[in-house]
Parts: sequence; structure tokens; C-alpha cells
Amino acid sequence: MVKIILIEPIGFCPGVRRAIEKAKKIKSKVQGSVYTDGPLIHNQQVLQSLKNEHIFEKKIDISFQPESRSAILIRAHGITPERRRWLNTLCHTHHCPLADATCPDVAHIAAIIRRYSRKGFHFLILGNPDHAEIMGLKGYAETPCLVLQDIPTLHHFLSQIETNPNATSLPYVLLSQSTLDVDFFEKAAQRLGKRLPQLIVHNTICPATRQRQLSLQQALKTGLDGLIVIGSKHSHNTQQLVTLAHKFPTAVWNIEHMGEINFSELHALGTLGICSGTSASEQNVQEIYLALRKNLPKSYAVRHHDEGTNLRPTISYSSGQISSSQNTPKA
Ligand code: SF4
Repeated sequence: MVKIILIEPIGFCPGVRRAIEKAKKIKSKVQGSVYTDGPLIHNQQVLQSLKNEHIFEKKIDISFQPESRSAILIRAHGITPERRRWLNTLCHTHHCPLADATCPDVAHIAAIIRRYSRKGFHFLILGNPDHAEIMGLKGYAETPCLVLQDIPTLHHFLSQIETNPNATSLPYVLLSQSTLDVDFFEKAAQRLGKRLPQLIVHNTICPATRQRQLSLQQALKTGLDGLIVIGSKHSHNTQQLVTLAHKFPTAVWNIEHMGEINFSELHALGTLGICSGTSASEQNVQEIYLALRKNLPKSYAVRHHDEGTNLRPTISYSSGQISSSQNTPKA
């Protein structure tokens, strides 16, 4: 009998929901297509359904000629101020509107960088240097800005400043990619704080990311035999959930849709968790959950959420098969 634990919160985060709504709203105002500057979010199914509504991902470069009555949309990860100016000019030239779906949590990080940059601070940003969000954020720094991806790069930076005492007296601001691993941020803030007396720390991991990591961590501590992480392999916050799960003796499957589930691997499990990244839809999670219930005979389900984060239930099942984690399991 497999106990299926639905680890909340699930469904789109506010930033992803807002980006999709923005795309649809701007489309309702123009007769032509809407072009998003790169993938709007990391969810192929959603991007495919937006295509059907004439909302297309586009690599917008100098050769791009938007047709009349079309619009361009900046995606949830944001862009550099320089690119924003360039897109503004492009839209102005072609008489098409430019809409902005940058997540407010990302815009908040950009505002911090802009503010401290004007005061001459240097920046340390924890995150993936190749990620669109980090590339966009770096554009706001007019002072030196270094991206530290992981513990080895953090140690490398610390060893460099060790041999350069002048570097330790510089004013630094520490920030993070919005979807960073919470533990990495805390470790890095501690180690850097010991070496850089003038360090100002802004934990800019967004609440949606933090909630999912904390809730998953709690669930993993209860001892899960297996965990299905729903979300894209290109989604940074989804991959942080996968990395977190790998720290526990739990079998982990990262899938985007139910066609990827191998049910024969799951029959022998005692407990199976399901969690999802912030760009996986509630419907997607519901489909996978129902497929698990159907294909794992005698399975039963409970919900798990982190009590400390005041989460409201985000899913409702018409089948009514999900119960509170305190309830007696149903056979
Ligand atoms: S994960 Fe966080 S930063 Fe990214 S879109 Fe969602 S709310 Fe915004």
C-alpha cells in the first residue's frame, strides 16, 4: 500500500500566474501576435497552449520585424536595462506596444542593485551565471558584480580576498537569484560575513521558492521512500527541489507530465511524495496525482504543508480523495 503525500504549495507561483495573465491581457488588446522575448515561463505545455492563442516565444534580435498590430512582452525573469531600452526603441519604431511581465520579486532585486550601485557598493550574487534572471540583474550593476554559483566558487572567492586585504575593506552587498537554495544562501551569508566586515545581506529568495523548499524539507525529514518532482528540467526552482531531495536517502524522479511515470518502479514504495516547481500548473499536478491513485492499487493520499509558512490549500480534487495529513488514512 503506497501512501501518497501531496507536498504543498502546488500550482503556479504569483509571478508565473501574473506573466500568463499579462500575456493574455496584451493579446486581447492587439489584433496581431504577441511575441515574448524568450520563453515566458519554463513550462512547455503552457507555452504550447499560448501558441494556440497567438502568443509566441521569439528570439528578438536586430533582424526581427514585428508585424503591425503585434506586441512584445518581457518575460518573468526580466532583462537588462540596456535591452529594455533597445526593445523600447524597436517597439517605438514599429508602433507596437511593449508590455512587461517581469516578476515583482525579480524587479525588487533589480531595484536593490540599482540603489546600492549608485552608492558605490560591489555585488556578490548567489545563483547561476547563465540563467536569464542573473544576466538581467547584472545589467543593473554599474559597479563590480560577481556571481557565485556554488560552494566551490564561494571558496575560490574567499581564498582570493584572503591574499588581498584591500578587498575585504570594500563595501559589498550580498543578494541571491530569486529561486536559490535556501541552505546555500545561509551558508554563504555566514562565511562571507566573517570575512567582509562591511557586508550588507539581502536575502532575495522569493517567498514562493522558500515555501516550497521548506515544505519539501519537512516532508523529506519524515522519511519518504520516493519523491516525484513535477517541473521542467530548465526550471531553476524545480532543480533546487531535486537537489534538495538528493540530500536525503529518497529515490527521486523529475518529470513534466504523467507519460514519464514508470509505475512499476513505484509499487514497492511505502511513502511517495509529490511536489512541484513554481511553473507547473495545478492541473498538471492533479493529472499526475490521479494517475498515481489509479495505477497504484490500495494507495491513499494525505497532504503535507509547512505549518510555519501559513499556506492555504491550493488544490481541490473533485474526487475528494485528498485528506488532511492528520486524518486517518483511507484504505
Ligand atoms: S519563482 Fe518567485 S521570482 Fe520566480 S516568477 Fe515565481 S514568484 Fe517570481
